[in-house]
Amino acid sequence: MNLNTVKYTFELIKPNQLIEVRVIGSKTYSGYFREVDVLISELEKFENDNVYFVLNEINEACYSREQKDKFYDKPKNTTSDNDIVSKQWLLIDVDTKRATGVSSTDEEKNKSKVIANKVYKYLRDIGFNDPICADSGNGFHFLYKIDLPNDVESKDLQSNFLKVLDLYFSDEAAGIDKSVFNASRITKLYGTFARKGKSTTDRPHRQSMITKVPKEIKTTPKELIQRVAENLPKKEAPKYQNNYGRDEFDLDKFINEHNIAVTSTQNYGDGTKYILEACFFDESHKGKDACLFKLSNGAIGYKCFHNSCSERKWQDVRIKFEPSAYDVKNYEQTRVTEKIKLHPQKENIADLHDREEHGDPQNQCDQRRGQHFNQRTRQVDFFSDSAVKDIR
Ligand SMILES: [Zn+2]
Repeated sequence: MNLNTVKYTFELIKPNQLIEVRVIGSKTYSGYFREVDVLISELEKFENDNVYFVLNEINEACYSREQKDKFYDKPKNTTSDNDIVSKQWLLIDVDTKRATGVSSTDEEKNKSKVIANKVYKYLRDIGFNDPICADSGNGFHFLYKIDLPNDVESKDLQSNFLKVLDLYFSDEAAGIDKSVFNASRITKLYGTFARKGKSTTDRPHRQSMITKVPKEIKTTPKELIQRVAENLPKKEAPKYQNNYGRDEFDLDKFINEHNIAVTSTQNYGDGTKYILEACFFDESHKGKDACLFKLSNGAIGYKCFHNSCSERKWQDVRIKFEPSAYDVKNYEQTRVTEKIKLHPQKENIADLHDREEHGDPQNQCDQRRGQHFNQRTRQVDFFSDSAVKDIR
């Protein structure tokens, strides 16, 4: 291991903070340290193991635990989510998809580099400040400086943020780890080796390292993280007027009905990605630039990676093909039609209409009822329903 890098990691990421390092090998060890030099002298014996550290700010009280200034095998307590004071780093972990328990090949690792570079560019264009970049051994990390409280809102925000990146950038070869949002997350200690499986020529153990540090580490505001997270597709509400009934919106049917050209589809753990021949809003956006997403929970999304399309969402696609899809007025009117069809015996429509036209001597209450109903029948007229025609 490179102890200089280990030292640099803590100076950079956890200056003057309590540190917990965890060693995961044949046994799991944990140690809490305030002094990096003490930590390093204790760490040297774990040269052949995988070493991690707790990324976020730990409650100082944890320093009094039994593993103070030394490593303990199976300690009673290690850092839990409740022990985190605040979230200081947003970790993006791009890793190769490979058999578990083995190191990546150079070819696999390069594929995760391609994805990491795309993620970097996307976030930079949104306005994210430069991250610390690291080589995790088998993949790549970005650490964006943030300042968020350790609460449910931050947890959901970070989780949704990673889900969106996964949706946009992961492919069959490499992807964004969606699980690294929890407050007490441990991550590879840079300067130590990634030792998954046996070290072989094509799948070697590699030393992790910090590869790039911005001149000034600036905090990325929460609002920018939200801008990414809010792109997480939402469930499409069924709409009565589009013949989709009350069932879940059927994206495959939509694609077929509107002859949308799909180049290829990729299946995820979470759903399906449809790579489109061209963007709906600019035909020159081709290749893998534009995609539709269908998640396993029924949510649907759209993304074109060109800057001019950065604000385009699934709802814009839907409206392009079905202009009245989100028309609330239409939606309400359709409901009225359905209500009358369902309960025609409740009110004698013709009688009420007639009474309204000829000024039936009813009391005010009944007149109000008549006016109200008249509005409803007029609304229904828009739909040229045969039942309504009879009334007229
Ligand atoms: Zn586009």
